[in-house]
Amino acid sequence: MAKLKTVVKKCLQCGKALKGRADKQFCDIGCKNEYHNADLAEGEKIYKRVLKILRNNRKVLKETLGEKTSIDIALEKLIAKGFDNDYLTHSKQRSGNKVYYFSFDYGYRDEGNGMVKIVKAFDWT
Ligand SMILES: [Zn+2]
Repeated sequence: MAKLKTVVKKCLQCGKALKGRADKQFCDIGCKNEYHNADLAEGEKIYKRVLKILRNNRKVLKETLGEKTSIDIALEKLIAKGFDNDYLTHSKQRSGNKVYYFSFDYGYRDEGNGMVKIVKAFDWT
């Protein structure tokens, strides 16, 4: 008679064989906590990396706009200052208008020919 293969479940954190309940995933609370903390830390790294880009985008837009209410500038000039137009916090479109792309409270819209118009958020509602 063929011997039944026993599936040895291993701890998701340390890899040690698990004994006890079939649905057990970790050897103890220590391994469970380590596992979940590592998972959280991974998320934090991503948040920090993206937030750094978004904060810099806001800084570039804010400094470029200065005291003006709007300014037209070549997108390339913003990129040269470190602006990353792949990242934005949200977009907004007023009826019949072009879409504005924001980094928090500062945004821009495409004006064509490589030009953009920078504005400070008109409202937050
Ligand atoms: Zn373990």
